[in-house]
Amino acid sequence: MGRNLNCCMCGEPRRPTQKPIESFGNDCQLVAIGKHRELKEGRWEASGGELIVNVSIWRNGGTDRGNTHICDGCIVAGLQEAKRFVDRSLDALGLVSSHDTASISKEG
Ligand SMILES: [Zn+2]
Repeated sequence: MGRNLNCCMCGEPRRPTQKPIESFGNDCQLVAIGKHRELKEGRWEASGGELIVNVSIWRNGGTDRGNTHICDGCIVAGLQEAKRFVDRSLDALGLVSSHDTASISKEG
């Protein structure tokens, strides 16, 4: 069994459209808060006020960097877990777990 031919996690055969991948993530996006929130007098963060947001799905192990296949189905399972975390967090903050973030925007 070639390492690139089957998903290292579930064993599903790799489709031609799927590339080998070690992990899956958003590469730590920097969210400039000033674009989303009004910056008020009392703020004390001297730098740009960037929030580091990281979503990552790590493959167990770490061998054969960039040469390991994780199928779309396994990535979706990871993204669904990430979404559950986001939804739980939004609920805990009293926000509806939808795509509507108007209540925390500048206008809100
Ligand atoms: Zn898989």
